[in-house]
Amino acid sequence: MTDQLVDLKLNEKTIKLLNKLGISRVTDLILHFPYRYSDETKITLIHDIPMNEECLIEGEVIASEVLYRPRKMLIIKVQDDSGVITCRFLNFYGSQVSQLSKGKRFRFFGEAKQGYLGLEMIHPKYHVASPLKELSSTLTPIYPTVAGLTQPTIKKAIDLAMKSLSLEDTLPESVVHKLHLPCFVDAVKTLHYPEPTVDIHALSNKNHPAWQRIIFDELLAQQISTRINYHKREKRLAPRLTGNKSFLTDFINHLSFTLTRAQIRVLQEITSDLKRTYPMHRLLQGDVGSGKTIVATISCLHTVHSGFQAALMAPTEILAEQHFIKIERWLSPLGIRTQWLTGSMKKKEKDIAHEKIKNHEVDLIIGTHALIQQEVEFAKLGLAVIDEQHRFGVEQRLALRLKATENKSLEPHLLMMTATPIPRTLSMSYFADLDVSIINELPQGRQPIITKLIESRRRDEVILRIREICLSGNQAYWVCPLIEESETLQLETALDTFHYIQNHFPDLQVGLVHGKMDRFEKQAIMDLFYKNEIHVLVATTVIEVGVDVPNATMIVIEHAERMGLAQLHQLRGRVGRGADQSMCILLYHGPLNETAKKRLKIIYETTDGFELARQDLLIRGPGELLGAKQSGVPGFRYASLEQHEDLLAPVQQIADEMISDYPIMATNHVSRWYSQPKDYLKA
Ligand code: ADP
Ligand code: MG
Repeated sequence: MTDQLVDLKLNEKTIKLLNKLGISRVTDLILHFPYRYSDETKITLIHDIPMNEECLIEGEVIASEVLYRPRKMLIIKVQDDSGVITCRFLNFYGSQVSQLSKGKRFRFFGEAKQGYLGLEMIHPKYHVASPLKELSSTLTPIYPTVAGLTQPTIKKAIDLAMKSLSLEDTLPESVVHKLHLPCFVDAVKTLHYPEPTVDIHALSNKNHPAWQRIIFDELLAQQISTRINYHKREKRLAPRLTGNKSFLTDFINHLSFTLTRAQIRVLQEITSDLKRTYPMHRLLQGDVGSGKTIVATISCLHTVHSGFQAALMAPTEILAEQHFIKIERWLSPLGIRTQWLTGSMKKKEKDIAHEKIKNHEVDLIIGTHALIQQEVEFAKLGLAVIDEQHRFGVEQRLALRLKATENKSLEPHLLMMTATPIPRTLSMSYFADLDVSIINELPQGRQPIITKLIESRRRDEVILRIREICLSGNQAYWVCPLIEESETLQLETALDTFHYIQNHFPDLQVGLVHGKMDRFEKQAIMDLFYKNEIHVLVATTVIEVGVDVPNATMIVIEHAERMGLAQLHQLRGRVGRGADQSMCILLYHGPLNETAKKRLKIIYETTDGFELARQDLLIRGPGELLGAKQSGVPGFRYASLEQHEDLLAPVQQIADEMISDYPIMATNHVSRWYSQPKDYLKA
């Protein structure tokens, strides 16, 4: 038996509709479970009808009339030996009026409520009651469906599927046993054909053991396919980077600050990975301002000391340039040869850079997407660092990894950094093919940023406040609203704001930076801002990531209600980078919709990036949080990461166990859940 829908002899139209539901194989039909059930296995006496719960009753129509006020409706009264109930139909055909006439017996199925006509059922399902018509022997499943596909049609297709496939267990018996789960076939049968005795609430709430098994299986399938990538990586080859401990210690001792304990810990995690012979794929998470750049720099230094090249890729030119300046300042005294590479360089400059990279005349290359262009060939790439990794697509990260593998057997180590913390649930599921390091402390002496929500009508007060701050020696950002539909419009708004503020600050220097400026213009402005020759920097969201000017202590974000939590948090992270008290002012334009209200409340109350990410996940769901660029990430059908968080650790352990001890079952398990192998967030 193959797994094709056509083999079930379903008609073409049905197959098309099933496809719309994501059902393309017989197996998918088996895994298409009801989202709820109705109990039509027994008849309830009218006297015993439970409130707000569906039930089946049988009785005689004793009155029937059509009312026109307050609106047109058909009202019938139904009686059995125990009492009377009203059934009310708001949309009905003439034929129904004559059908539901006085003296006839019917069965009605629906939810009873106390209405203004007493006990009533609104729009019950009904059919003629005849002694010959048997009651259903199982609970009636109700399946998710699409327009045009009726419940009976789906049910019939599932019946056929259940008959045509043998539902072997893909979990080893020992596992099923250990976890006290039902076997697969029993779980499936229970969900499609639940006996009348099954606890219908447990089924509807998905905490019946049958559901637990399915949810476990779904999480496991995802975990196995991700962990397979993890284990495959252990079989690939990467240069063993032994580094030079005393050089590193020396460098660290000469920094102008002391590394935090968290920085030291993650550096140990990274360097011990770099000493292995298979590629590191490590995600370094640390809240904005936690000091990831220095960690990256030291990792690069370790690599260069081992005789290899390192590359650092950042998503924007501003950020890449800032890294370049900072890192060069740290490393050039040590004789490390750094190279800058971005798309906006002149062709000739680029050609020269490419030559140097190819001939190993440079050790550390810092730049943007230009690093992954075809023409770039590294002589000996040992480590690739990707800053703000969530801003890159999967292919782009893959490209960097492949850079050194094309002709050579060694693959570079990969360090991906993100300031958008990934909630534990996501790092244990979608990111389970990576190792994770977390910087969970900020450098000493940082004061929490004060966040204020202010209606935009009070803009002028805010401007006065900025003036005070700047006159006392600090600096400020003024971030213009995100206008997704039009970059030109965004630019106009930025210009308006720039002029407006300039007019209000005759005694202060105001600068403007936006995405349409070329690299040199941007850099010139940023330089002035670094040097405190510009006091207020009006900017579009180009400054969202990475920009680091510790003397800036105030950021105003206009139209904050338009931005997502992660973005607001990133922007807020531009301040609070030095010892001075910082402030973030969120200007909003009312009226606010519910989501915007929720978001602003959360950002106002929370400064902890991990907590924000968790809240964001609750609002947006994993798909969006992982970002459009990382989409293609399948969601879960039945499992929910929040609700089933406790399962993630055991699931991971069993996935690893199965991959090593039961590899065939492991693959079978994955293919049961995914028709095509899914490339998760493989770096
Ligand atoms: P992020 O993690 O957001 O990329 P950065 O690496 O830009 O943060 O660091 C923020 C600022 O903190 C920088 O100015 C950096 O030089 C400084 N910094 C990093 N580590 C420490 C530390 N241990 N003590 C004090 N300042 C630090
Ligand atoms: Mg950074």
